Amino acid sequence: STEERPAVLPEPVASAYDIAQQNREYTMFSWSVQGGALPPVMTGGRGSHFFDGDGHSWLDFSSQLINLNIGHQHPRMLEAIKKQVDTMCFAGPSFATEPRGKLGQKLAEVTGLAKTFFTLGGSEANENAIKIARLVTGRDKIITRYRSYHGATMGSMTASGDPRRWPVEPGVPGVVRVFDPYCYRCPFGKTPDSCGRECVSHIEEVIQMEGPDSIAAILVEGITGSNGLLVPPDDYYPKLRALCDRYGILLITDEVMSGFGRTGKWLATQHYGIKPDIVTCAKGLTSGYMPLGACIVSQPIADYFDTHMLWGGLTYSGHPVCCAAAVENLAIYEDEGLFENALELGAYLGQRLEAMKARYACVGDVRYKGLFSVLELVRDKGTKEPLAPFGGTSPEMGQLAAHLRNKHVYAYSRFNFLWVCPPLIITKAELDAGLAVYEEALALVDTLIAGGVAA
Ligand code: PMP
Repeated sequence: STEERPAVLPEPVASAYDIAQQNREYTMFSWSVQGGALPPVMTGGRGSHFFDGDGHSWLDFSSQLINLNIGHQHPRMLEAIKKQVDTMCFAGPSFATEPRGKLGQKLAEVTGLAKTFFTLGGSEANENAIKIARLVTGRDKIITRYRSYHGATMGSMTASGDPRRWPVEPGVPGVVRVFDPYCYRCPFGKTPDSCGRECVSHIEEVIQMEGPDSIAAILVEGITGSNGLLVPPDDYYPKLRALCDRYGILLITDEVMSGFGRTGKWLATQHYGIKPDIVTCAKGLTSGYMPLGACIVSQPIADYFDTHMLWGGLTYSGHPVCCAAAVENLAIYEDEGLFENALELGAYLGQRLEAMKARYACVGDVRYKGLFSVLELVRDKGTKEPLAPFGGTSPEMGQLAAHLRNKHVYAYSRFNFLWVCPPLIITKAELDAGLAVYEEALALVDTLIAGGVAA
């Protein structure tokens, strides 16, 4: 069963309905029409499970927002946060503190970069990366990719290609977009084994058309997350790195979702043997226990700011409680071998996903790296017609999501994509339990697209 019953499962909250009502009446929820169904109530969690207002235990196959890497309520994390709270809750951003320095050093060690500017989340990390790239190069344009999400603030939203950017357009000036390494639906009509990596050479053409001296940086997700989890071919990054070097363009990788163990390494780009000039991260940096983002820069960029002003600041930059949480979180990753678990179970998950692709008519493609994975759903494997349009939804995707919900498996689905991104602490038994429900949902979709009526 996916319904684990821990000894500490809280009693159903008598006032769950009131909580939901109060939230609905007085608060606004992200990316949703505000007048719809009441929001789900969460009352607690433990490990790979969380509990709702009706006392149900859910298996979290999405690590909340693909950030809760160490699972819910990790005892060591609770202890570390409490300890820092007892010592010092806040210091202004111009003060040196122990957790801030420790975290900066650790991030330099694990990324091979030099210095970190701390933010409160991923959007702000990308805002600052863009600003730093412009300051350091004296150039203004930023190249980003269409199938990307970099955050909801104005600059990061404009940098995104995701349809969520449409309402804020024209946004901030200077963003130029290029196509993605999307091998299943190659924008250049190629296949991975016979192509000339047009997804990189076309960027070079764009650079020439835009004027090489005007491009400050290329900003790409380490591995694209919320726009379909696009795992690039192995030589994509080396070619992109070489392209940046040829034109003096900075390479910024947004590892907000793909970093910190999600793919089994500190950074997704470490699978490809390259080093970016700037890395942005958030989510798995603290596993969501405290809000924290980071913009980590290379030695030459750090050196530049030894003699130039860093035009940027945040009241909560380097917040001691957030930094202390991150220091402990990174230690937990290492002490518990969670990246090894992600790699080991990730390999098993990959096999399971490939088997699903072979078995279910609706599974057009599967993509995975560690515990970062997606199923791409289609109406027809031959035509690859998506089960829902890019930017939209469909009754079948609705029924698939409803099935997972009814079985209390918490899964992230969007457009025609269904993600499998459990916490890095997940066990094989939990993984199997959740995947069994995924298989039921896929069988249901197969029935629907074959023209049948779901039982
Ligand atoms: N970049 C990527 C790749 C993301 O997935 C996200 C959040 N989903 C962000 C940036 C924005 O981060 P935040 O929501 O913490 O501002």
